[in-house]
Amino acid sequence: MLADIGAQLGGWALPIAGVFGLLIGSFLNVVIARLPVMLEREWETEARAILEHEPNSEREHFDLIRPRSRCPQCQRPIRALENVPILSFLFLRGRCPGCGTRISWQYPAVEALTALLFVVTVWQLGPGSAGLLALVFTAVLIAASGIDARTTLLPDQLTLPLLWLGLLVNIPGTFTDLQSAVIGAAAGYLTLWLIFHGFRLLTGKEGMGFGDFKLLAALGAWLGWQALPVILLLASLVGAVVGIALILLRGRDRNIPIPFGPYLAAAGWLALIWGDELLALYFPQGF
Ligand SMILES: [Zn+2]
Repeated sequence: MLADIGAQLGGWALPIAGVFGLLIGSFLNVVIARLPVMLEREWETEARAILEHEPNSEREHFDLIRPRSRCPQCQRPIRALENVPILSFLFLRGRCPGCGTRISWQYPAVEALTALLFVVTVWQLGPGSAGLLALVFTAVLIAASGIDARTTLLPDQLTLPLLWLGLLVNIPGTFTDLQSAVIGAAAGYLTLWLIFHGFRLLTGKEGMGFGDFKLLAALGAWLGWQALPVILLLASLVGAVVGIALILLRGRDRNIPIPFGPYLAAAGWLALIWGDELLALYFPQGF
């Protein structure tokens, strides 16, 4: 049925994917900004309960919808017309109309990136069920990468549902067969777990977080174990290039951990969209 809808859309599929990507990107900005705050509040509440402190009753309710978005500087609420993806940012010239404070370029960047990736996804996978499921995959990866880049957290609230969904979508073999998906999930987690403990034994340092294990498990569930070497190689290459560039350009301390999540996510996304081409580079004879 989804394929029929896709066929009826015809040449409209790509523009629709782009506009849809802008709107979803706008929502992902909210998730990236608010989910870490929600998690920190949850942890504080739990810690207070364990330590038998009084709950902090003065705080207002905070979730993805409430309170309404405000300028962090002057608290001016953001009106609906000022919330149009990219256009509002351009129209306001990147400044709050109340106090003139600069609005982060990350907001239009996430909207533009989501739109671009949505268009490429539908272009490569078509507007059928595989393409639509890949849009969910894309959106969760963007949110997880944004949060990891900002806070070095990879929330279970994103990685674990992505893992379960990856196993479910492959029951009918959407991206790989179910056996490869199950092995991929376990092998993805184990690979980084082993690297983590090996690295810690050798250097005494912790090179990555447990969120990275769960993210690679999720990628293994979506793509199958066969994709894991390509994903790890791509992520390490891009991560090394960006890491060295940051150290050279900004004189960044090489002991500050660089979040690995965005590189894993980018590599996983590339592998889902162009996986067959990437795998062919690796195993020219096939399996
Ligand atoms: Zn303001």
